[in-house]
Amino acid sequence: MRRIGIIGAGQAGLYLGISLLAAGYDVTVFSEHTPESILAAKLMSTQILFPDVLQLERNLGLNFWDDDCPSCERTYNEVCDTEGNLALVISNILEKPWQGVDQRLKISTWMQEFRRRGGELVIQKMTLLDLDECVHNYDLLVVSVGKGSLSNLFERDEEKSHHDKPKRHLGTGIYTGLKGDKIDFHTLRAINIFGVGEILVVPFYNKDRTPAYIVSAGAYPGGVMDRFLGVQSGQELAEITKKTIQELTPWNYEIVENMELTDEKDWLCGAITPTVRHAIANLPSGATVMGIADTVILHDPIAGQGGNNAIKMAHLVTQRIVEHGKLPFDELWMQSVFAEFWEYAQYANAFADSMLTPSPHLQDILGAMAQNPEIARDFLQGYNHPPSLHPWFFDPEAAKKYLERKNKQKVAL
Ligand SMILES: Cc1cc2nc3c(=O)[nH]c(=O)nc-3n(C[C@H](O)[C@H](O)[C@H](O)COP(=O)(O)OP(=O)(O)OC[C@H]3O[C@@H](n4cnc5c(N)ncnc54)[C@H](O)[C@@H]3O)c2cc1C
Repeated sequence: MRRIGIIGAGQAGLYLGISLLAAGYDVTVFSEHTPESILAAKLMSTQILFPDVLQLERNLGLNFWDDDCPSCERTYNEVCDTEGNLALVISNILEKPWQGVDQRLKISTWMQEFRRRGGELVIQKMTLLDLDECVHNYDLLVVSVGKGSLSNLFERDEEKSHHDKPKRHLGTGIYTGLKGDKIDFHTLRAINIFGVGEILVVPFYNKDRTPAYIVSAGAYPGGVMDRFLGVQSGQELAEITKKTIQELTPWNYEIVENMELTDEKDWLCGAITPTVRHAIANLPSGATVMGIADTVILHDPIAGQGGNNAIKMAHLVTQRIVEHGKLPFDELWMQSVFAEFWEYAQYANAFADSMLTPSPHLQDILGAMAQNPEIARDFLQGYNHPPSLHPWFFDPEAAKKYLERKNKQKVAL
């Protein structure tokens, strides 16, 4: 039986481990934390997953929360000019629901499930030396440590990395006590203030198995909303978030006025520099390891692509491992698997980049979305499958042609 080692028990590492167990492999996952300590830890992410990825999780029987997790079925998007004046409202029904489950609940449950299905779970914070010692025990060693420091083993790909500093400063928390006529557990509410930032209110299933809301803000560095770095407590974040909403979009204040954090640990602030790295790293002994997910393609959360990418990449890697049979997992193989994934991931990156630095034609697309629900549907499908946004979302000329075509079709109907 072929042996696969995986460093990092996160979204990608556990999905990869569990799917390889299902395919009959001998799998070891190294995790720096126990399931219990992950569940008790501070908020790590507030990820929302889209339909294709939710289906991949269901196919492996990892969808333990489908019956209880709020099912996000609609979007309600306010677009404001740089002064905060409401310019557009775009509301739409999603073709298939989106879902957000707290990663602390998910990862701690998946770790136990991995063990239950026959995987070996080793609790150890791995170092470079540890990797070099254990690499020879496996046919393939995969590194899925997310933003962990071992990701620095993988050299930054200058051609594919378009940022050298964060484009947003983030503040996000999990809350209850929101109210208002457009607040419910089936609606994702987004506020985009051009050149200032984005605010999201998203239904979520928290680590204590209770429906709640994510309220998150992404601020342009140096702009009027840039208040989140340096926050010291959840209480402070809640106050700053409320004040920001009151000042910038006062008509939304009643929604958050009485909101409260679900737990003092349910918040995080920070900033991410989106980075693409080379997928292969050489250890001091000369052995090679392969990086996947955030370790090699790190996103700002604006377009919700990181966790979705993590599962899609782990799924592809599983398929290619199985197809490779008994052949060695050499650098050529690693490179070809990454190149194949990049065929897809380049569009996820382009999507996130377009949201981080909107070009003028995006305003035309948003304006058209407010008038024509079909355009809004095409845009929302882009979250699930970013290649579907090519070329019309990325290129001004293609956008013009696409909008003309869609609007003609609308008139013809
Ligand atoms: C605020 C925020 C909002 C987000 N929103 C979304 C969203 O809406 N949609 C979306 O798709 N994505 C979103 N993301 C991104 C998403 O959470 C990540 O892309 C995803 O978790 C990446 O999975 P991963 O397996 O690569 O890394 P992780 O899930 O981070 O897992 C890495 C694991 O490796 C472990 N580890 C690290 N170093 C070591 C070591 N040396 N030894 C052993 N173990 C180690 C870590 O403890 C961790 O458990 C968001 C992220 C943030 C921060």
